[in-house]
Amino acid sequence: MAKPQLARLGLFDAKVPRYTSYPTAPHFSNDVGPDLFGDWVSGITPGSSISLYVHVPFCRRLCWFCACRTQGTQTDNPVIAYVDVLKAELDLLAARLPAGVTLSRLHWGGGTPTLLSPELMRDLAARILERVPLSRNAEFSVEIDPNEIDEARLDALAEAGMNRASIGVQDFDDEIQKTIGRIQSYDTTRRAVDMIRARGISSLNADILYGLPHQTRARMTESVQKLLSLTPDRVALYGYAHVPWMAKRQQLIPSDALPAPEQRLELFETARRLFLWDNYAEIGIDHFATQDDGLTHALRAGRLKRNFQGYTDDRAPVLIGLGASSISRFPQGYAQNAPATSAHSTAIRAGRFSTARGHMFKGQDILRSRLIEALMCDFRIDSAEILRDHDISAPQLQQMYTSTNIAFEGLLHVDDNGLFIPPEMRALTRMIARSFDAYDLSKTGHSSAI
Ligand code: SF4
Repeated sequence: MAKPQLARLGLFDAKVPRYTSYPTAPHFSNDVGPDLFGDWVSGITPGSSISLYVHVPFCRRLCWFCACRTQGTQTDNPVIAYVDVLKAELDLLAARLPAGVTLSRLHWGGGTPTLLSPELMRDLAARILERVPLSRNAEFSVEIDPNEIDEARLDALAEAGMNRASIGVQDFDDEIQKTIGRIQSYDTTRRAVDMIRARGISSLNADILYGLPHQTRARMTESVQKLLSLTPDRVALYGYAHVPWMAKRQQLIPSDALPAPEQRLELFETARRLFLWDNYAEIGIDHFATQDDGLTHALRAGRLKRNFQGYTDDRAPVLIGLGASSISRFPQGYAQNAPATSAHSTAIRAGRFSTARGHMFKGQDILRSRLIEALMCDFRIDSAEILRDHDISAPQLQQMYTSTNIAFEGLLHVDDNGLFIPPEMRALTRMIARSFDAYDLSKTGHSSAI
């Protein structure tokens, strides 16, 4: 679709959620607290598999571009104290978990989980696996900072069972790295990847950003080609979200060096084409995966899902987040831990979960959540599936499609089988998804639609 048409439909002005949850986190309230969280944990099906996310909100230095909730520390003392809190939180969790529950997925994210010493990594992994063992074929992934990793730490992670590593790249260009306050050379990244693979950890995810200051198509091409030389299995191509009013560190980034929305689209398309030429499969709106990767299989089988980490082939109905600010998802709703490390630690040390807010599903939440997920994953809504799984009539569903299609000038494909976003309109997917969002009627406070 031509840029003027995309502009007319609002792509270059819109602020739209990324829809890693529905409703999105700004709509959480304090209706969900520690008692309800505990009840939801107790209600997990005995013997089932769940996913566990462990958040480490510390970094050695704070990169200017990063909007993650994380704190800088040069000493290990806060990290040691925090790992003690995580272990206590695991004990609280295990006391409420029904018998026989195992982990199909374990993910350590942050912040920088790899700033833990090898001893702390072993200690934390041992406590997790004692309390909730991994199921067969489980995936244990860790976000690895190439600047903050060494042989001893990777040995500890590999011995604990890590079988997928995730690295952030952003962009390999020197000037861009200086402008965003994150120096990470290609050689440093290559060395980390070689160390990871030398330990038999064959699954590698990488994140790269478009829309960074001073980024041009030529620089994007060079960075993507360098990334491809590392042969990652999965790539997330995220748009840099410049929100200096929320992430104060971003005030150090000159706004006049940022590409315009139209250029962001060109940068995205440049990178996208390179991944497709290299035979990666396109996964949803912003991921790419090798042809034999689990995400590609999930996409082909129609079971690709979306969670807080982006796209996933995880089938577990429950995801529990440990640590400050982590979000859990249950069939009943979402629960988020206290965002501040201090408040989180105080609650856990007092013997209670730190759940501070969340959302209990009601009304059409689950239906709309699925409609949005289907668009974000498959660019289509299958009416037969929706009518089978949700309490809505065919005319009501058609009415929802019609209102959306009117908002997009009738350019979507709508028939008795469902709603389909044609390939030339995929850049608008988040905006189309938003038309099914009953909570988000505002146009501010989110990142750009492109
Ligand atoms: S990019 Fe990574 S290391 Fe930098 S501040 Fe964000 S989480 Fe920390």
